[in-house]
Amino acid sequence: MIAVAMLRALRPRPFIISSSSPSSPLTSVSRYISTLVLAEHEGGLVKQSSLSAVAAAGTISEGNSISMLLAGSGPSLQQAASHAASCHPSISQVLVADTDKLAHPLAEPWAKLVHLVQQQGSYSHIIAASSSFGKNILPRAAALLDVSPVTDVIEISGPQLFIRPIYAGNALCTVRYMGAEPCMMTIRSTSFPVPLNSSDSKSNGAPISQVDLSTFSEDGIGKSRYLKHTSQDTERPDLGNARVVVTGGRGLKSAENFKLIEKLAEKLGAAVGATRAAVDAGFVPNELQVGQTGKIVAPELYVAFGVSGAIQHLAGMRDSKVIVAVNKDVDAPIFQVSDYGLVADLFEVIPQLLEKLSEKK
Ligand SMILES: Cc1cc2nc3c(=O)[nH]c(=O)nc-3n(C[C@H](O)[C@H](O)[C@H](O)COP(=O)(O)OP(=O)(O)OC[C@H]3O[C@@H](n4cnc5c(N)ncnc54)[C@H](O)[C@@H]3O)c2cc1C
Repeated sequence: MIAVAMLRALRPRPFIISSSSPSSPLTSVSRYISTLVLAEHEGGLVKQSSLSAVAAAGTISEGNSISMLLAGSGPSLQQAASHAASCHPSISQVLVADTDKLAHPLAEPWAKLVHLVQQQGSYSHIIAASSSFGKNILPRAAALLDVSPVTDVIEISGPQLFIRPIYAGNALCTVRYMGAEPCMMTIRSTSFPVPLNSSDSKSNGAPISQVDLSTFSEDGIGKSRYLKHTSQDTERPDLGNARVVVTGGRGLKSAENFKLIEKLAEKLGAAVGATRAAVDAGFVPNELQVGQTGKIVAPELYVAFGVSGAIQHLAGMRDSKVIVAVNKDVDAPIFQVSDYGLVADLFEVIPQLLEKLSEKK
């Protein structure tokens, strides 16, 4: 085991721990690499996080044959399939499972679908993004296929060699997968960025095939039931992919005050984030939580107001390109990872920012 410390002046980076000797030979690699990407879609488009999973699949090995699996029913599925066929040059095939049983992305039927598609296609790898969708489905599918998944991969060093964070992102672990095929993993989409609107100009696109669902059994599917889909604000950028994120912590003190964060985010065209303390206090819903048990983000600009910088919060945002923190406590740990820090009262700073940004318009 080796441990290497990589330290930077203001933004301490994690330790790297290797769980196996890097010089040891790779365990037997499958006859050829073929990867199934589990894709999430909405409004007829494949989600950006699933495109990151394709980008990750592309780094497994040269010549990897990548199939993208979409499920659902109706016209929006067909639209998403067309999008999938032309959205990334690495996709060689789009598989579509069109059935009412998969109209909503429930984990149990999806896991069964993955099991079925694996039996039909014998993929060497199965990948999904570390979104709620991927984290919900992949472990269930792995259990059905009797393999152990590798989660939260941030770097792929070879077909069976992966790097993932441990201890809330304070150390990086090199994992060698030595189990049976398929090798299943979730990847952090922030580590495999795909430019927005990266649709490929290929004229024909990848072929689209229907999955043979004749043996798709209904056993055990009814364990969960779809109730409804609620979405906070469709106008705002998605927290996981936004270029700018404005986050509020417990320092905001109330849901009413948290609206200051929302106003500022609106002016900056940013997504809104929150700490777990802010979520637990009921200021905002938990889908906005950033951190170890929330979303992992890595925007170009992350602005934190009234956030102390607990290790579990840093785990979700420390890879942001530029971090700005406003906190009235000079010793707040958030300043240790910030590129710019302002020791000030957020209730004075935000109104001033709002005023200045209005003047600029
Ligand atoms: C297993 C586990 C998982 C967790 N997962 C997460 C996670 O995913 N995400 C997460 O965020 N947390 C997570 N936590 C909680 C985490 O440990 C912290 O409790 C939380 O991040 C603190 O949130 P906060 O910074 O908003 O609150 P606090 O720590 O209370 O900090 C509030 C900050 O606001 C500042 N402040 C107060 N008033 C003002 C003002 N007027 N102007 C400027 N600054 C002001 C204070 O100086 C203080 O630094 C987890 C904890 C555990 C145990």
